[in-house]
Amino acid sequence: MPLNVPVTITLPPLDRSYTVHTDRQRWSADQLATVPDGRDFMERAVRRGVREAALSCAYAQFTPAVIVTDPHPDGSVTMTGRVLCDNKDCHTAAQRHHLDAAEAIEAKAAAEWAFEKDLGLAPGGLRERSLFARMSIGIILTAVGTAMSTYDYQRPDNLSGNSLSAVFGQQADKMCNLLAYPTLAAGALTVLFALISHIATDRTSKEG
Ligand SMILES: [Zn+2]
Repeated sequence: MPLNVPVTITLPPLDRSYTVHTDRQRWSADQLATVPDGRDFMERAVRRGVREAALSCAYAQFTPAVIVTDPHPDGSVTMTGRVLCDNKDCHTAAQRHHLDAAEAIEAKAAAEWAFEKDLGLAPGGLRERSLFARMSIGIILTAVGTAMSTYDYQRPDNLSGNSLSAVFGQQADKMCNLLAYPTLAAGALTVLFALISHIATDRTSKEG
């Protein structure tokens, strides 16, 4: 199944567009047995499939596809070839294609592969990064909350009670006292939920 998958990575500070030029084939044991060096023959067919998917892409024509081989118990083999391309025209063209159900599954796998290849992280690394992003937001909220609760306006002795800046300072102090605890609580909860959801997904992925 030759396919071009548009992938956009929007995780800060990255915002990059890619296309995964890909082909996935499954050959039965019989098909593999009809030629000598069945898997090598199959691999060449998959590489050819990737190039055919990306006919208008010079990069994909000259870049060797990354091959993943999955043997099955019945002797059949699934092979996936992928090239990660950052050409804008490829991305635009790939976005115009409407994926069917089978292609959507391949597109999801291709997108995950592109994320990991782009970020240069081991599987699961992306999740670590989003945990870090959520925890940072929580820590910033907590810090703002703490700053608000410690802010205490001291009216200078040399100012009269009706001075505009004194009134402003007192109002700001009241406002900070009012907002400090909700902000602190929101910050603490954000950190807490980030950790809980991280532990939950960690457990799910280990079970699965
Ligand atoms: Zn391309």
